[in-house]
Amino acid sequence: MSAKKLPFTLGQLESIAAQVGTPFHLYDEAAMRANAHAFNAAFAWVPGGFKNFYAVKALPNPHVLAVLKAEGFGGDCSSLAELRLCEAVGIRGEDIVFTSNDTPAEEYREADRLGALINLDDISHIAFLEQALGGRLPEFLCFRYNPGPLKAGNAIIGKPEEAKYGFTREQIIEGYRLLRAKGVKRFALHTMVASNELDPAYFVETAQMLFDLAIEVFRTTGARIELLNLGGGIGIPYRPGQQAVDLAAVGQAIKAAYERTLVPAGLAPMRITMECGRMVTGPYGYLVSRVLHKKATYKNYVGLDSCMANLMRPALYGSYHHISVPAREGGPRKTYDVTGSLCENNDKFAIDREIADPAIGDLLVIHDTGAHGHAMGFNYNGKLRSAEVLWQGGTNYRLIRRAETLADHFATLDFPGLKS
Ligand SMILES: *Cc1c(COP(=O)(O)O)cnc(C)c1O
Repeated sequence: MSAKKLPFTLGQLESIAAQVGTPFHLYDEAAMRANAHAFNAAFAWVPGGFKNFYAVKALPNPHVLAVLKAEGFGGDCSSLAELRLCEAVGIRGEDIVFTSNDTPAEEYREADRLGALINLDDISHIAFLEQALGGRLPEFLCFRYNPGPLKAGNAIIGKPEEAKYGFTREQIIEGYRLLRAKGVKRFALHTMVASNELDPAYFVETAQMLFDLAIEVFRTTGARIELLNLGGGIGIPYRPGQQAVDLAAVGQAIKAAYERTLVPAGLAPMRITMECGRMVTGPYGYLVSRVLHKKATYKNYVGLDSCMANLMRPALYGSYHHISVPAREGGPRKTYDVTGSLCENNDKFAIDREIADPAIGDLLVIHDTGAHGHAMGFNYNGKLRSAEVLWQGGTNYRLIRRAETLADHFATLDFPGLKS
């Protein structure tokens, strides 16, 4: 298997580790920017304008959001905290899509205060939103479409007809009729049916499905949809040898569908948007840990100073994350379970994985942690979440989140002797 390359040297890593301590998540700013650029370029043809609303949940750090905002991205939010993060970095108004489900009234009010485009998850939420806003609706609204058995899903998101999200086709038509009757003026349509999908054809089919539905809505209800949101879900090559989605080719194939269907139907210009998170930051994050222990029992183990609290995906989904040992690459290899310190046997970053054989004290780098890495962390077993570092080349970096302390962990308890 071909190795995945690291953008930094061991010396650069050790220099950062000496200052911030291990473990930490390290994010490569230049690589994120280059990828954002390529994403925008792939859709530069969209006559109504293209924007990716970054799914904030993937890496909810305002310093990273500020970098993405500078690259022209908006924010996709699903909670009060995510809305506040966008507001703090100056992502506001229609640069925010609020896509949520099972939503409390307070979150709708906050999204409305910021002027976000609200994306409703169910037809009953029209009345719920109207009530939450004191008897009015925003002028611009979006619906989330669930195609049900018309479209296959994938392993992470499941089959669309089993998914809790979105309107049925009949409800979509009825919903836009209702919005028109209530005086709503501007309409958008969204779907999100896959996660971590590497097949480029999938995104072209999704676009075609929304184009066809927008045309049907226009013909049957008179509602002229002005913005389509193709959702997120573009996967990343976690495993060596996997191919990243060719964004330029996807962009061109969607352009062809646009010209073939939307233009003759009189629905151009149409704004086309996405809300990708994983592919925007995922490949550009690295969890850097130190090897604390090695043991040989029925199996061989490498124990790290990080654990599931720092990266849940392998334990939660059985996900593959590549591992490099920068001091030993090219040397002898050996098969290990790579573990964390939780009292949970599934606290393993890799099982039966051949890696460059590390020594105790070596730095070990887990790849592709820039999405759903730090963000998914938790405090079970009293484990503390790590620092996050934005790497700007060479030995230049910014600490963009300090590591948690015990005082942070105990902050919600009122008990003598636990405050510091
Ligand atoms: C998580 C999520 C996204 C982002 O998905 P990625 O797989 O990170 O691209 C987009 N939209 C919604 C509604 C989501 O829940």
